[in-house]
Amino acid sequence: MNFRYFKPGSVGEAIYLKKEYKNSKYVAGGTDIFVLIKKKAIKPDALISLRNLNEIKGIEENEKFVFIGAGTTLRELEQSEVVRKYFPALYDALINMASVQIRNVGTIGGNIVNASPGADTASPLLIYDAKVVIIMDDFKERELPLDEFFKGPKQVFLAEEEIVKGFLLKKPVKNSGSAYYKFMKRNAMDLANAGVAMNIKIGDDDIIEDIKVGLTTVAPTPIRATGTEEFLIHKKFSEEILEQAGNIAKKECSPIDDIRGKEWHKREIIKAYIKRVGMIAYKRAKLI
Ligand SMILES: Cc1cc2nc3c(=O)[nH]c(=O)nc-3n(C[C@H](O)[C@H](O)[C@H](O)COP(=O)(O)OP(=O)(O)OC[C@H]3O[C@@H](n4cnc5c(N)ncnc54)[C@H](O)[C@@H]3O)c2cc1C
Repeated sequence: MNFRYFKPGSVGEAIYLKKEYKNSKYVAGGTDIFVLIKKKAIKPDALISLRNLNEIKGIEENEKFVFIGAGTTLRELEQSEVVRKYFPALYDALINMASVQIRNVGTIGGNIVNASPGADTASPLLIYDAKVVIIMDDFKERELPLDEFFKGPKQVFLAEEEIVKGFLLKKPVKNSGSAYYKFMKRNAMDLANAGVAMNIKIGDDDIIEDIKVGLTTVAPTPIRATGTEEFLIHKKFSEEILEQAGNIAKKECSPIDDIRGKEWHKREIIKAYIKRVGMIAYKRAKLI
């Protein structure tokens, strides 16, 4: 294991170094990438740290939107009043990720760019219609909806030199609520066997006026369960309707047998969690 390590102080410097060192990698908290280096799955000649880039850190809000910098740590997000108030599904995900030690260094940008099907912050961001803000190699910015950012397992639509600046999320509307739940074999330090995020807006007479469902670890990438959403929209909310939706969700995902569990079991978790998460999201919607 032999590589050069750079700690640039600006995005410009980081992109310049990335162009100079062809076989290099950006590193934020390092909690994913150092595992790959240790396993010898990748052998970069240089690592370019993003930790000193203030341009990609922090949380900003205006009337309608919240911007979360990619370099913000999972722990900073978990402790943010803004996240807890507006994005409870993301908060649910954060408090059940890894350990405090890992969350102190791991970043939301690293979690999304690593693009594991089990990335816990991904389905919460999907249900909030997050846009990925990307700094290109000419320093201009482009935006991409998160559901168009994932290319495949551990792959995203990001050019070598590009840096994710952060994520733009719409603030919730009145009478909406959201939640995330993941099934783990252990109570801590475990990736999801399967997970469900849901964002629901309830109108008069309990009619579902808007619905977004995100699924974790049951497809090659984190996904939106659009068939389930189509089934639920404009229906009257009830436990029974969630049960029927669970049957649709379990069929529309595509889990595989792997170290995290059997395919059939992951489908059953999805079915059960659609109901569980739906009930929590509904109760939260009633509180706003
Ligand atoms: C013990 C342990 C437990 C874990 N538990 C969980 C868990 O429960 N749930 C979960 O989802 N994950 C878990 N993880 C995985 C990991 O901690 C998270 O994915 C974390 O958010 C990664 O962030 P990072 O900053 O450390 O990423 P890094 O390792 O620094 O980077 C990951 C990838 O993203 C790229 N990258 C990072 N930031 C940017 C950026 N701004 N622009 C462009 N590219 C960028 C890097 O080049 C690299 O390819 C765990 C890891 C460990 C070691």
